[in-house]
Amino acid sequence: MPSYYPQNIFAKILRGELPCYKVYEDDKVLAFLDIMPRAPGHTLVLPKAPARNLLDVKPDDLAAVAVVSQRVANAAMKVFAADGITIQQFNEGAGGQVVFHLHVHVIPRQAGVAMKPPASAKEKPDVLADQALKLSAALKS
Ligand code: AMP
Repeated sequence: MPSYYPQNIFAKILRGELPCYKVYEDDKVLAFLDIMPRAPGHTLVLPKAPARNLLDVKPDDLAAVAVVSQRVANAAMKVFAADGITIQQFNEGAGGQVVFHLHVHVIPRQAGVAMKPPASAKEKPDVLADQALKLSAALKS
């Protein structure tokens, strides 16, 4: 497997070199909205430590990401009045991974509504800002 590439787009977000619609942050984990959501509220949960994907992440970082993914999922159920949550996590190009810093997709779902195809449309900035605010507030309560 190739080694971690520190110039990937999520590494730049983690270093504050690029913006994001932040939903949650602690010492080990950052969560922000996917700018091309497959459904409203689509959130990405990342370890702060460099990890290419599931195959090389340290167990304690993986555990922290799993715990935050569960918290984001429960918050998203309320904020988006969701009927369910889809979790996705891709590993290497053959596994569907496009950005090579480990991330878990937390996607709120409505009954009978299909997900949009991956990276099909950019959401409007004001919509993302509003959703991030609501999700982060729900995560604090
Ligand atoms: P994957 O690596 O296949 O799990 O997909 C990467 C995901 O990152 C896709 O869902 C993209 O829409 C999303 N994405 C790409 N660039 C950004 C960005 N700057 N901010 C938030 N999400 C992004």
